[in-house]
Amino acid sequence: MRLVTFSDGGAARIGALDADGALRDITAAAPTLPRDMVGLIAAGPKALSLARDALSKAPVVSGAKLLAPIPRPPKNVFCVGKNYHEHAKEFAGSGFDGGAKDVVPPFPVVFSKPHTAIIAIGEPILSHLDPTGGLDYEGELAIVIGTGGRGITKAAALSHVFGYTIINDVTARHLQKRHSQWVLGKGLDSFCPMGPAILTADEAPDPTKLRLITHVNGEKRQDALVADLIFDVPTLIEAISAAITLEPGDVIATGTPVGVGIGFTPPKFLRKGDVVRIEISGIGVLENPVA
Ligand code: MG
Repeated sequence: MRLVTFSDGGAARIGALDADGALRDITAAAPTLPRDMVGLIAAGPKALSLARDALSKAPVVSGAKLLAPIPRPPKNVFCVGKNYHEHAKEFAGSGFDGGAKDVVPPFPVVFSKPHTAIIAIGEPILSHLDPTGGLDYEGELAIVIGTGGRGITKAAALSHVFGYTIINDVTARHLQKRHSQWVLGKGLDSFCPMGPAILTADEAPDPTKLRLITHVNGEKRQDALVADLIFDVPTLIEAISAAITLEPGDVIATGTPVGVGIGFTPPKFLRKGDVVRIEISGIGVLENPVA
């Protein structure tokens, strides 16, 4: 199931995109379910199966606005840097990795973005917030945590995944380099487009099979299988949850493959009017303009 959060003018509620891509109002068909995505996830497998049962009788909604599937996760969005081999090389070679010692990190590089950075499909990335002119995109698969916990082992990790969505880890490269730690270069308002939907984990039992493709203004820039991750989904969940309790609805962006703007000579930074389109098989397309 592809779950979404949407609004048709009133309060946000939960829907699903059916096989034809139509938006169906799950909340209308199952009014006892929580109306927000974090609540639904926290309600556990029984609530998810109620939502699934409701899908066929849920009314189609037209003209509604899709919001980020999780507009406000319980924590900052976790993000992982340098997690594809070819991207780690292009980043090391770009001169923008201010604090790096290793091309391929020996342990996952984890940072976070505040929830105020999250925007929905179609909403603008605000280029004026980066006056240094180093705006870049990073198409990424993101994990949505279902059952929370601390000390989750690799072997158990996939059973803690509720589903997967897409994140654009938008980055102000000069700020990223200048401040060494990445939150000030990556946590800017509007720098975390998320969506369009959460593909539930039952429909992606092996996330390494997912394929990510990014276009900028119709030009293909990234095309990779999640199988190329340096630290895979179970490893990331084990590493982050070792001493931080993961909660239902927490989001972990897994890193970007080769083909970001600074990988080109000269760099292909984003400009006002550009459109970034990220597609992951099964999840859908996340498209945002640069304003
Ligand atoms: Mg990234």
